[in-house]
Amino acid sequence: MTSSADLPDFAIEVRGLKKTYAGSKKAPPKVALKGVDLVVPRGSLFGLLGPNGAGKSTLINILAGVVNKSEGEVRIWGRDIDAQPRAARAALGVVPQEIVADVFFTPREALEVQAGFYGVPRGERRSDELLAALGLSDKANAYVRALSGGMKRRLMVAKALVHNPPVLILDEPTAGVDVELRRQLWEYVRRINAEGVTILLTTHYLEEAQELCDTIAIVNRGEVVVSEPTATLLRRLDTRNVVVTPDAPLPAPPALRGLQVAARPNGAFAVTYRLGEGTVEQVLAAVRAAGVGIKDIATEDPDLEDVFLALTYGDPSRPSPTAD
Ligand code: ADP
Repeated sequence: MTSSADLPDFAIEVRGLKKTYAGSKKAPPKVALKGVDLVVPRGSLFGLLGPNGAGKSTLINILAGVVNKSEGEVRIWGRDIDAQPRAARAALGVVPQEIVADVFFTPREALEVQAGFYGVPRGERRSDELLAALGLSDKANAYVRALSGGMKRRLMVAKALVHNPPVLILDEPTAGVDVELRRQLWEYVRRINAEGVTILLTTHYLEEAQELCDTIAIVNRGEVVVSEPTATLLRRLDTRNVVVTPDAPLPAPPALRGLQVAARPNGAFAVTYRLGEGTVEQVLAAVRAAGVGIKDIATEDPDLEDVFLALTYGDPSRPSPTAD
């Protein structure tokens, strides 16, 4: 057995990572990552969250060796992707977002071919074990095109694991997946994580990250805005919004002491308060005390957008995502 002293503290380590996509005649260059620092502790089930266009795929594609970085350092399982690209890649399994079906192979063959690709000796292959673990044993010799979408997705997870990588990336594993399959995948992800595989999962479902991940990083506009244990992050979600429509147009939303205020369309504004530290009544009293007449109010539960708002609030260099 390997002693843990030999193992890296971080399964993935990203320092100062920048990526600018080259422009073309029609499009200017596009900055996708502005200098990302991110560490994924060994053994964690780590969630990477962010809205579309935040830079998640770019980051993952750099880790997977599919996209070249512009600047910065990346280590996978302690192996630098520039200095030891093959060793770094060998430590990583990637389950891509899109289902790629091997039409000519059976699931067992698909796993054998993949193992061959990674140079796994025959005696060390574990195709049958993986098929069993993912509930595909009875389809081992079926044509892949005869599998359901859910089965194909599970086969892709199996393919990513043929070379026994200590780190697994799952890119939006449950996008467009039905509830039952989602549960099954979650269960399997938990299991392999419990067996020691470090998992990095991208998702735009907050619920998924909440349920599965011990640590969450939020990426927004090419930057990591937060990376912390899920429980800590969720305490930040301990907020509610009251959306107020004033009875007369205001030049700007009122400043309310101790409360976060953000503009909304059509002259409305949202006031965010912490549960346990305030009530809707207190918010409304503060609004009236600021001299604002109230035409209408609505309350909202927090969502990922609110986390962003809470995290970026107070930094004038970062415009509020809801105030566009
Ligand atoms: P996410 O996965 O979080 O949706 P992406 O990494 O796909 O974000 O995209 C980050 C930014 O980089 C976006 O503004 C996107 O338009 C841009 N981008 C992504 N891929 C390319 C590419 N191949 N060429 C140019 N711009 C790209």
